[in-house]
Amino acid sequence: MNETPTCGQAGGEKDKQALQDRLAKIRHALIVLSGKGGVGKSTVAVNLATSLSMKGFNTGLLDVDIHGPSVPTLLDLRGKMPAVTAEGIQPVECWPGLKAMSVGLLLGSEDQPIVWRGPMKGNAIKQLLVEVMWGDLDFLVVDCPPGTGDEPLSVAQLLSGKSSGIIVTTPQQVATTDVAKCVTFCKSLQMPVEGIVENMGTFVCPHCGKETNIFSHGGGLKLALRMNVPFLGNIPLDPEIVESGDTGKPYVYHNPNSKTAQRFEEIITEIVGKYSGPSLKQRSDQSELPQDRI
Ligand code: ADP
Repeated sequence: MNETPTCGQAGGEKDKQALQDRLAKIRHALIVLSGKGGVGKSTVAVNLATSLSMKGFNTGLLDVDIHGPSVPTLLDLRGKMPAVTAEGIQPVECWPGLKAMSVGLLLGSEDQPIVWRGPMKGNAIKQLLVEVMWGDLDFLVVDCPPGTGDEPLSVAQLLSGKSSGIIVTTPQQVATTDVAKCVTFCKSLQMPVEGIVENMGTFVCPHCGKETNIFSHGGGLKLALRMNVPFLGNIPLDPEIVESGDTGKPYVYHNPNSKTAQRFEEIITEIVGKYSGPSLKQRSDQSELPQDRI
């Protein structure tokens, strides 16, 4: 990726126009945030994007976690180099209806740490939004690194006016305290909050199907009430989610009848309901998701 700071400096106007042209084709961006790492933010982002594509929406998934990109692993895209043409960068087509792009696909060796300061990260994210040829998208799901640092800030500013935040937490206070900051972050940027998703608060017994609280279940709901934002639902801790993440096979596609997949479904239905306007073009080929690919 070009490390020369072109954005906001020489060529800024051209970039601004290019950015506007690209963003004009994106109906709405869902920015997935969390205050802490390891709470399941990338897992939620990948499964929400998969659910949207299964419902027939043209969906993009953008992973801007520069220091720890997870999307290449979660969608088994490692080693897939996006094609770079004179017009821009082609996102990887995972299956009809889902295109993905991750900083991790552009950076060469997985084992190499990225040592970039804030402005370079902002420029890289802007360049991604300018260069990636998504085409017409109903939804762009953006997976951000944990916290409220340079990456979420750049994304929120660049997608300002057509984005909203989905905030993921686990129920423990150590997570919810940091997640509260994400809510404040969104509010300070005038970015609407879709709501809070509580992940891994309960466990569904694979034998009897009974759902039990394993930690202090309810932290996500309490936080939503305290911060005055919607509570979107609870995703149980499910060993199949770990397996599907490690093998790059999206959980919601492979386990559509499970209680966990139903929770994802409820969350996405709630969100989609708000944005289903006449310009959303639901595809008719959703039954064509290739079994061998996903
Ligand atoms: P984050 O993006 O917040 O750092 P990840 O999505 O990478 O978190 O998830 C961290 C780990 O937790 C992964 O191994 C993932 O498979 C696992 N995980 C996430 N959500 C669940 C869940 N509901 N049940 C079981 N494991 C989960």
